This record gives sequence, structure tokens and C-alpha cells, in this order.
Amino acid sequence: MADDDIHEIAIIGGGPSGYTAALYASRADLNPIVIEGYAAGGQLMITSEVDNFPGFPEGIMGPELMQHMRGQAERFGAQYRTEDVTAVRFSDDPLAAPHELDTIGGTIRAHAVVVATGATARQLGLESEARLQGRGVSYCAVCDGAFFREHEIVVVGGGDSAMEEATFLTKFASKVTIVHRREELRASKVMVERARQNPKIAWELGYVVDEVLGDDAVTGIRIRETDGDATKEIPCTGFFVAIGHDPTTGLFQGLLDMDENGYLLQQPGSTATKVPGVFAAGDVADHVYRQAVTAAGDGCRAALDAERWLTAAREAAATTA
Ligand code: NAP
Repeated sequence: MADDDIHEIAIIGGGPSGYTAALYASRADLNPIVIEGYAAGGQLMITSEVDNFPGFPEGIMGPELMQHMRGQAERFGAQYRTEDVTAVRFSDDPLAAPHELDTIGGTIRAHAVVVATGATARQLGLESEARLQGRGVSYCAVCDGAFFREHEIVVVGGGDSAMEEATFLTKFASKVTIVHRREELRASKVMVERARQNPKIAWELGYVVDEVLGDDAVTGIRIRETDGDATKEIPCTGFFVAIGHDPTTGLFQGLLDMDENGYLLQQPGSTATKVPGVFAAGDVADHVYRQAVTAAGDGCRAALDAERWLTAAREAAATTA
């Protein structure tokens, strides 16, 4: 393969961080290639209205926002491959021997790589949950809470996320019911205590969700005893699933450092990973903020870090040559 076939930068992932990295890299003449995956667009593709991305005072639909981001980077020369990366081989000396990314269409070689593969919100796996996504079923309280002013909401989950989301949602909702499959909560004491002291929060512990009710929009849920058959219905218009997220990091096991939940670790003050020329951006490295705008910001940082790394690595190579 000729040097021409080696990309300056390859970006894995087609969400807000990947597309923003592509925008900055293309404007820096790094001719990025984005392997955006078959599920291009990321989590915003299953979101309806986005009201918290700056620059859209009337709001914008999630898929439309992603089309804008993708097209903006394409205008400056970003190339796209709508396929998944199936294997990666990182190099210790990527200027001399580029990193390699396998896809079904062949192997992509690049001196720098931005990993922006994101995370996915865990789902309960109910047919009714999938059908009513964006119609009352949500995976992000910060994104969608304001649509439920003075409405009744159910949050499912027993971890810190569920406590945090339920507490946050009481700003808008008239009532928030937490449904959890066990009597014991996994969340930290302080978060549970805060939720317990909130008069708007009700509890249904020891129940699993059987079905999300409603034809075109959520009207309630049916829950069933975890250790029995008794069922009951809880009316609500918002149903927030807060049972955790899974970062998309399976490809990088043993190659990049991760925390105990599988999120990629960035070097302090940078998006760099421990592998030279490999950067991590967005939700794949962020279990705290998880917003489109923070992911986009991280994609910008990764592209700038990659550009500076390429310049410095070339200068170092020229000095030692
Ligand atoms: P988590 O700690 O893994 O909790 C997930 C919860 O969802 C558990 O209670 C689990 O039940 C339940 N669950 C999982 N799958 C389920 C299913 N299929 N059906 C019903 N329930 C299900 O996830 P998380 O709450 O997102 O927290 C992830 C990490 O981020 C934790 O380390 C947490 O401390 C941290 N975090 C911190 C903060 C904060 O400090 N402000 C806020 C959010 C998250 P079981 O308990 O029965 O397994």
C-alpha cells in the first residue's frame, strides 16, 4: 500500500464527538476518514426533539442535528465509511508503522486515531419500550425532563443514575415514582437519602416493569412483583429508563486503559490515551456528563490534540533523522 493510502487521521464513530473531530480535522487539512458504523448518528438518532444543543433556539430533531454535523464536516473534505470496525491493531510507532483498523471493506491505515464510539443506554428490552421511544420513553432526564412539566413520571432503576434522574425530574414533574426490581437499592447512601427526603418521589420497590402502556404516547406502565404474580398499573406520561450505560469499548479490551466500568481513560488534561497517536472522545470516555454538546466539545479537543501530536511527532522524527 502506498503512503497515499495512509490517512493522517481516522475517526471511529459517527456521533457528535466523531463528527466534530472530523470537522476540526478536515479544516486542519488532515483529510480525516470517519468509520461511522452501521448505526451512524449515535444516540441522538433515537432522540426526538433536542432543546439543549446551543444554536437552535426552536430546538431540532436529533437525527436532523446529526445530519447537519455530518454534512458540515463533509463540506471540508471528511470522508465516510458506513461500516463497523471489526478489529484494531495499534502501533507503538504510528508514524513509521500506522495504526490499522479492519472493516468489512478492508483495512484502513492511519497515523492518528480518534476513538469516538460512544455508549449506549441499557434498555429493558420490552417491545412496548422500543415502540414508544421518543413518545414518552426516554433515557436522558437532562435532555427530556422539561417536556414533562406538571406531569407524572416513572423512573426505573436502583442505582445512582436513577436516584439522580428522579431527583432532577422533580423540578418539572408533579410526581416521580421510582420502580426498582429489589427492595435494596444499589445507589450510594447519600443519593438515596436525597431522593427519600423529596416529597414528590414515590417508591415501588420489588417490582419489574412488564409493559409500557399507550398506543401513540406513554399513558402508564404495568409493573409486576419480582417474587410474585401481582400486577398494578401506574399512570404516567414520561417513562425514564435509568439502568446504566455501556460504553462501546469491546474492540479495545487489552489495548487501551479503561476504568472498572469499561470507559476509556484519557490522560489528565488531554484526550490522549496511553497509546501514541490514539485519542478518546465523547461518551466512550465520559460517564459523567453524557451530553451531545460535551461529546462535541470532546471531539474538538481530540482533533486538536491529534493535530498537535502529529506535528510534534514529525518534528521529533525530523530531528532524529
Ligand atoms: P448501575 O450502578 O449499574 O445501576 C443500574 C441499576 O439498574 C441497578 O439498580 C440495577 O438493578 C438496575 N438494572 C439493571 N438492569 C436492569 C434491568 N434489566 N431491569 C431492571 N433493573 C435493571 O448504573 P448507574 O446507576 O447508571 O451508575 C453507573 C456508575 O455511575 C456507578 O458507578 C455510579 O455510582 C456512577 N454514577 C454516579 C453519579 C453521581 O455520583 N452523581 C450519578 C450517576 C451515576 P440491581 O441493583 O438489581 O442490579
